[in-house]
Amino acid sequence: MNIRRPRQIRTLLFTTILCAQTAAVLAQQTVDHTQLDAAATKVLSEVVNWRRDLHAHPELAFQEQRTSDIIATELHRMGYEVSRGMAGTGVVGLLKTGRPGPVVALRADMDGLPVMEDTGLPFASKQHVKQNTPQGNTEVALMHACGHDMHVAMLLGAARVLADLRGQLSGTVKLVFQPAEEGVPNAPNGAERMVKAGVLDSPKVDAMFGLHVGITPQPTGTISLRARGLMASSDTFDIVVKGQQTHGALPWNGVDPIVVAAQIILGLQTIVSRQTNLTLAPAVITVGTLQGGQRANIVPGEVKMSGTIRSFDPAMRDQILAQVRRTTENLALASGATANVSIDAGYPVTWNDPALTAKMLPSLRRIAGTAVLTDVPPTTTSEDFSFYGQRVPSMLFFLGVNPPGTAPTDWAPNHSPRFNPDEGALLTGVRTLASLAADYLTGN
Ligand SMILES: [Zn+2]
Ligand SMILES: [Zn+2]
Repeated sequence: MNIRRPRQIRTLLFTTILCAQTAAVLAQQTVDHTQLDAAATKVLSEVVNWRRDLHAHPELAFQEQRTSDIIATELHRMGYEVSRGMAGTGVVGLLKTGRPGPVVALRADMDGLPVMEDTGLPFASKQHVKQNTPQGNTEVALMHACGHDMHVAMLLGAARVLADLRGQLSGTVKLVFQPAEEGVPNAPNGAERMVKAGVLDSPKVDAMFGLHVGITPQPTGTISLRARGLMASSDTFDIVVKGQQTHGALPWNGVDPIVVAAQIILGLQTIVSRQTNLTLAPAVITVGTLQGGQRANIVPGEVKMSGTIRSFDPAMRDQILAQVRRTTENLALASGATANVSIDAGYPVTWNDPALTAKMLPSLRRIAGTAVLTDVPPTTTSEDFSFYGQRVPSMLFFLGVNPPGTAPTDWAPNHSPRFNPDEGALLTGVRTLASLAADYLTGN
């Protein structure tokens, strides 16, 4: 007897079977971590070679041509689909497993800095580049003084590991090699341009991970991070207060912009101290420049000032930016002056998604055990990784590169001509990047 099932029930059955099959496929995918670690150890000597070669040949922001050539060649060799030219020199590598699953992205930044190296390393940079400066055409020395050479080398290492483990993975790995983390004056930085160019789309990224060497003087191999705001947002403001010029002995005949500027400076300080919930996250407003007047006995017509705002919470940042504008404009108005506020939005808060961070902690602990520090204080430096975090759940961590036996006080920090990250951290970096991607894809 043939019972024709109603269409809805047939569809439901079909969907159920399909879901069960998909779940079975997903459930089959488990990562052999012993194999992952062995693959990382195997690629380590190449990682060191890549790192030293990149270190000897640093390139400035948006000029990372040689670096991106090397990356593209290596990724091709490993079997990645490679696309180039995003944000100028960006390289994106796709590893498709052919099995359904999420898309996980890993990021490395490629740019060096205009710093004259003073490490004495055998592979120290001797590179120079001509730069147009207000002083004319000058030659500047270049150095990988922020460790982005390490980042590229470790991500290439992780790329190889993930390619080796392809058969154990489901979903897609997207590797993002971006230009210009350090940025260039008055222009969008690398990550912002990559996001605008669609790096998080087609295929749409579900989660993104990145690391930065150093930043704090943690011993080699330490992994440190915190959920929520890890690194500060950084915004710049310019204020022009317009009053009315008059004789210094007859102030009632004009509007004194110097007194108004003084009120604004104090008013801005009450935003953090009186209007911001500092139990949630810290914040800083600093007025760094103040210019007005030429003579002791003349009230000038105008005062200019500028400053910086740092915060660790996206909502708090929005609120502070609005309050800076409101406080400035209304204090000026109260005295019969006007104030023009322009805010140059810089890097957002580097926000570690709390749920994603909690989910990935076991992966970090498997690699570094008790050397995973999960609640480090936030740092007031900024990272353009934050632009990815505005769009997709993301997590950035710091990798300790301070060699054993070096006191934190002897630490030459990032951007120093003596910055010399310990290559002993490279293996931890490769294992961690590969594990985060593999574990995220397989839900291990
Ligand atoms: Zn830097
Ligand atoms: Zn950096």
